Amino acid sequence: MVSENIFKEQKEIIILGAGIAGLVAGYELKKKGYTVKIYEASDRIGGRVFTKYFNPDLYGELGAMRIPDDHELVLHYIKELGLCNKLRRFKTVFNEDNCYADLNNKIYRIDKVIKELSLCYLNRFDQNLKSETARKYITGLKILIEAISPVEIRELFTRDLYNGLAQEIDTLFCNNEIKYDEEEVTFRNILKHADKFLDKVNPSLQLFLRDIILETKKELYRLEGGMSIFPEALAQFLKEEIHLNKPVSGISVLGDEVHIEFNDGDTIISSETICTIPYSVLKNLKLSGFSDSKLRAINDLKYADASKVLFLCKERFWENEKHKIKSGASITDNKLRQVYYPDNESKTKEGVLLGSYAIGGDSKEIASMRKQDRLNEVKELIGRFHPEIKENNMVLKTESISWEDHKWTLGGCSVMWNGENDQELGDPIDQLYEDIIKPEGNLFFAGEHCSEKQAWIEGAIRSSLEQIEAITKKDLAKVAV
Ligand SMILES: Cc1cc2nc3c(=O)[nH]c(=O)nc-3n(C[C@H](O)[C@H](O)[C@H](O)COP(=O)(O)OP(=O)(O)OC[C@H]3O[C@@H](n4cnc5c(N)ncnc54)[C@H](O)[C@@H]3O)c2cc1C
Repeated sequence: MVSENIFKEQKEIIILGAGIAGLVAGYELKKKGYTVKIYEASDRIGGRVFTKYFNPDLYGELGAMRIPDDHELVLHYIKELGLCNKLRRFKTVFNEDNCYADLNNKIYRIDKVIKELSLCYLNRFDQNLKSETARKYITGLKILIEAISPVEIRELFTRDLYNGLAQEIDTLFCNNEIKYDEEEVTFRNILKHADKFLDKVNPSLQLFLRDIILETKKELYRLEGGMSIFPEALAQFLKEEIHLNKPVSGISVLGDEVHIEFNDGDTIISSETICTIPYSVLKNLKLSGFSDSKLRAINDLKYADASKVLFLCKERFWENEKHKIKSGASITDNKLRQVYYPDNESKTKEGVLLGSYAIGGDSKEIASMRKQDRLNEVKELIGRFHPEIKENNMVLKTESISWEDHKWTLGGCSVMWNGENDQELGDPIDQLYEDIIKPEGNLFFAGEHCSEKQAWIEGAIRSSLEQIEAITKKDLAKVAV
């Protein structure tokens, strides 16, 4: 039996990036007795967990905003860091009936939209459906996918519907293989039977469905005080180990050594190193000593864009008698895509509206606009169902981000779906995935992109814990020899 402490005291582990993956790696390694140093390019920790504070009570999320109840690792650390008392229910899209759906140039309330739209969709993709419930079901499914998916996936799904999927679903209803009472066709129930026809939809949507299920589930949490309190609590434990404003410019793997160059000209030579830099950024750095397969994976991994626009409003007008909206999200088929209402307790009459949350090609559209044009257009579009936002001085301050333009991320999140190039997709655990996660000598890789739960904090944490396990195993093996 070898004691883990034999080597830890003097052993230094370098971590690149102070997002959740880097911070969890630092936190765990320090707890185990290792010396750690974390180098972060920007002037703040947290990466894609990024709360914009207009003041301590008025804030909005520019990055991650919800935690599914089955993301055990996130909840584990929240508990360990004493943040359980900050957990609050996150009311998500389709969970608040009074929210709006701005679709086909018409405004509906969410609880009415399936019924009303099933009449319009009648002529659009199928006139020969036999089951009325199937028609309603397909309408609901289409709205759900419209609301959450990026344009790349929406287009493929519409194509699927025209190419026989609508008929397939109709047949499943006629044969009683899918059974619903008509009033049961609600957004809450729609995905219950999706497994019956999943193999008939395009592979991109099959992969994205996991996110749709997570994003619409009832059991989601947020952190009162802003999601950034989570990385801040991890960083409390790591203070002097974190070096901000230290962008890495190059990494060389030379035998057991990892040589790291920084933008400011500094260089360090380390042994075990955990790199959590997103591959969208890493692929532009000077890399040497990497295997061809690793370089290919770094270059080939796709990122989906993501944009958010926040408005600090003088009044929480969405809560007034006319709208009666307390939380949840409105959906649109225009540039806004999703509008989230804050569900933090209103201590003030002001409120922060997430005026637009768009991903993939939809985000590209928002990102390509000049900042002022973007804000004006988002305001104009919200005004279609909340005219109050256009009143003089209603918007006190704004903030927006397009993660694809953010220098240290260059993309929203890594994705395995590919839109049009579906035929290139394989199982997520295919060769590309193996190459994404594999270490190069003593250089280990972590971050959401190195996990099967890509695009979630849970994935970022899991990937770090897996790399820590690999490092400790390696160290124990060396000591045992
Ligand atoms: C808009 C949006 C909404 C999201 N919503 C959710 C959600 O609701 N729930 C959820 O669980 N997840 C959500 N996610 C995903 C979640 O935010 C990420 O999966 C997670 O935060 C990624 O953590 P990470 O440590 O892997 O990467 P990052 O947070 O990106 O951390 C990487 C760090 O590396 C640094 N870095 C980059 N380049 C260099 C360099 N050259 N040198 C040194 N450092 C460098 C970066 O500055 C950054 O701090 C969302 C993401 C986005 C963009």
